[in-house]
Amino acid sequence: MPDQTNDRNLRSWVEPANRADCEFPIQNLPYGSFSVAGGERRLGVAIGDQVLDLRGAADEGLLKLDEAQGALRKQTLNPLMSAGPKVWTALRTQLSRLLEAGNPVLRDDAALRTRLLHPMANATLHLPFDVTEYTDFYASRHHAFNVGSMFRGPENALPPNWLHIPIGYNGRASSVVVSGTPVRRPWGQVKGPDEAAPRFAPSARFDIELEMGAIVGVASDTPLSVAEAFEHIFGYVLLNDWSARDIQAWEYQPLGPFQSKATATTVSPWVVTASALEPFRVNTPEREVPLLPHLRDVGPMLYDITLDVGLRPEGGAETVISRTNYREMYYSAAQQLAHHSACGCPMRVGDLLGSGTISGPDRENRGSLLELSWGGKEPIEIDGGSRSFIEDGDTLTLRGHAQGEGYRIGFGACTAQVLPARRAMAEQ
Ligand code: MN
Repeated sequence: MPDQTNDRNLRSWVEPANRADCEFPIQNLPYGSFSVAGGERRLGVAIGDQVLDLRGAADEGLLKLDEAQGALRKQTLNPLMSAGPKVWTALRTQLSRLLEAGNPVLRDDAALRTRLLHPMANATLHLPFDVTEYTDFYASRHHAFNVGSMFRGPENALPPNWLHIPIGYNGRASSVVVSGTPVRRPWGQVKGPDEAAPRFAPSARFDIELEMGAIVGVASDTPLSVAEAFEHIFGYVLLNDWSARDIQAWEYQPLGPFQSKATATTVSPWVVTASALEPFRVNTPEREVPLLPHLRDVGPMLYDITLDVGLRPEGGAETVISRTNYREMYYSAAQQLAHHSACGCPMRVGDLLGSGTISGPDRENRGSLLELSWGGKEPIEIDGGSRSFIEDGDTLTLRGHAQGEGYRIGFGACTAQVLPARRAMAEQ
């Protein structure tokens, strides 16, 4: 059955939503958690340049979810996700009808509109879901080849398992933060190749990783097929997996990254649903060797999402340092979730799966400074200077959208400024 909520001809009575370059048209309807003027947090939906208050709309009788109605009154998306895919669809359909150009119910009631719609510019956006677990993968062929070439040479770039499983590690849910939260440069143990002994110092090679985050919306405790895993994913965010390369280089063998990735992970404030991305599904690239049956995809499960990264030095102008696309990934989030669950690992509502750094074939498509500057050997030019890695005061911004005919499905910026390492640590 075709989903009316994705019809490209739909228009909203919230006029800015109909602009071709608006990130939040009526076809998007992403969920967030917001507050206004220091008030309580509420769930909201982005439409044009406004946020619709879900709790208020429920209290006014404009949204009806039967036994899941209470989920609309919560401050994070987890209860709504827990209500399951039928409720997700019901809510999306009701929101689409409520905001559609021809529906007068809210459109023509100025007092009600004032109560339920808030200018996004006045809203504080919070972490939209409780991050119950966080796992990060290493699933872009171009990224893995680039990084492997730097560390092991191009002949041994891909580890022997890489073409058979989406390699991942269990990360820290506790340090996932919403866009706009400053990130402090970490301290850690480092040892350069020419140094006799390790030192404890601020990371000198602090970096970004341009990723997408997939959010699990259905709990499970048995192995999932790739098709089941696809249906369990509620939505997607942009994700910056901050990485201290010098700490990583010293610690990562044999168990993978630990402190180098634990400082912070920044996510964009709006959860774009898998339903909104449905028209933008694409196949993973051709397999270089066949996958075992439990990891084979059974249809297009990646998405065509244009991505870029901006770097703005303190007091300076932003330079776009990377442009790539989510469709470059070798493994989809569904394949990653199937792999994750294959041992019987329970997956929880609010489980966040980082795609892994998304790099493309050319230099400008590289999704980390490590690759862009080739380990610091080829600094990139930015406004007013150059960079190998992040400097204090730099603001890094990830952006992304799926481009439809006459409209786009955006995520909102995933941004943060990097603050200097805390002085006190040096004196201990
Ligand atoms: Mn990563």
